Amino acid sequence: MTISVPRRALAAALCALLARHADAQTLPVDDPVLRHIWALGMDSSRVGALLQTLSDSIGPRLTGTPQMKAANDWAVATYTKWGIPARNEQVGTWRGWRRGTTHLDLVQPRVRTLEGTVLAWSAGTKGRDVTAPVVILPQVADSDAFVRWLPQAKGKFVLVSFPQPTCRPDDNLEKWSTAPSLARFRAQRVRDTASWNARVRATGYGLSLGTGTLGRRLEQAGAAGVVASRWSDGWGVNKVFFARTELAPSLDVSCEDYGLLFRLAENGQGPVLRVRSDAEITADVPTYNSVAEIKGSERPNEYVLLSAHFDSWDAGSGTTDNGTGTAVMMEAMRILHAAYPRPKRTILVGHWISEEEGLNGSRAFSEDHPEVVRGLQALFNQDNGTGRIVNVSASGLVGAGDAWGRWASRLPSEISQYLNFSFPGAPSAGGSDNASFICYGAPAFGLGSLSWDYGTYTWHTNRDTYDKIWLDDVKNNATLVAMLAYLASEDPSTVARDRRVMAAGQTWPACVKAVRKWSDFTR
Ligand SMILES: [Zn+2]
Repeated sequence: MTISVPRRALAAALCALLARHADAQTLPVDDPVLRHIWALGMDSSRVGALLQTLSDSIGPRLTGTPQMKAANDWAVATYTKWGIPARNEQVGTWRGWRRGTTHLDLVQPRVRTLEGTVLAWSAGTKGRDVTAPVVILPQVADSDAFVRWLPQAKGKFVLVSFPQPTCRPDDNLEKWSTAPSLARFRAQRVRDTASWNARVRATGYGLSLGTGTLGRRLEQAGAAGVVASRWSDGWGVNKVFFARTELAPSLDVSCEDYGLLFRLAENGQGPVLRVRSDAEITADVPTYNSVAEIKGSERPNEYVLLSAHFDSWDAGSGTTDNGTGTAVMMEAMRILHAAYPRPKRTILVGHWISEEEGLNGSRAFSEDHPEVVRGLQALFNQDNGTGRIVNVSASGLVGAGDAWGRWASRLPSEISQYLNFSFPGAPSAGGSDNASFICYGAPAFGLGSLSWDYGTYTWHTNRDTYDKIWLDDVKNNATLVAMLAYLASEDPSTVARDRRVMAAGQTWPACVKAVRKWSDFTR
């Protein structure tokens, strides 16, 4: 339905709206570009819509999956629609994989549908039901004894993770238990965890971040599947990483349901599991970074680079790791294109693939684009969730503190009041993509967000979903990044690269080569 409104009335209403929000913003300098950036970031933000499409419709973006490629294509199409030139740049190739559905049921001694899914890149069951008894990884004396036991794994699902004695988080235990009871519980849990880890080590194989080489060995022995559980210390939350099994499914099962399977097996109550997964390993596929660019008008060979990894783990939707960082950088580009279309320096955005497997997309870009590393004025990376940006560091570059001083002094107090600065700070050696550039001594800054319980509840978990977004904080971050990009681009000075004196025994982190293919990753 369309309602006709006199155009003048509409314009007046719009002005009133803009004025109201403009009033709420406290700029220390009267800068029309900063004012425009604020208005666009706060009054016509697109971050919610971007995140809804990315999280819900495209979904998680595991390297090598069709969703990752769909996200690459969506980013390029979105930038193109906004009038910003964009492209996908090939990084290498990766194991092709499609997750498909997983169904997981306990069928003996009683029926219950369990919460779980196959690990990333795992084999499936080719769409067939596999029904088999559940056994516990045995305590063996050494690897030889393990190999002698292996025939007993044939045709069974093998439990390989420590069974948590409770899936209540510790803050809940602290709230309700007596102090002596909690102390006894914790001491016992420490002993039992250590003893389980020793049991895994005794096999001579490892679990890595999922089922690892132990899973490979079990499937070679004919196991029906490998069952793991990596509880993330919160209510209903598991971290779900990857498997290397190519014949049998590797599963992650919720803390509660894993405990159920384990107790049934331990007590001889005959648990039988039925698993159906149509996960499919395919031929290797090409992998891409998505890059967009607003060309500099005065210093086109100097760069401001907005940075956020695009890939994710895939048990949730990859919303806070790193959909939020992705949306922040896309939105900042949209705002800059409208408020600052002719930047002094070139403004680039990099949406990196395969960060989760070792910063591979950003490392590849730094190798393939030495001109960008050489001409880098500033890189701003965000990759720790939905929270507002609060921590900023000069990354070990002494002169970068001055630059941050110049930029921050022009930010509105609504944003700057929350920023804590650490000068000269220290260069990041890993953790996120700024490390791929600071290793060259190029000014690459990580923007640190408030936690919102990221580490427990959303980072690499099955609960990293759209509802976890705190939209006002994401809007704040997009507006801040657009402002920083503008200020760094306009800055008459080039950010100096003098390195701090490192603390005794520490050195500047060395650059590491990108891993560009699956076979190098799993070697
Ligand atoms: Zn991340």
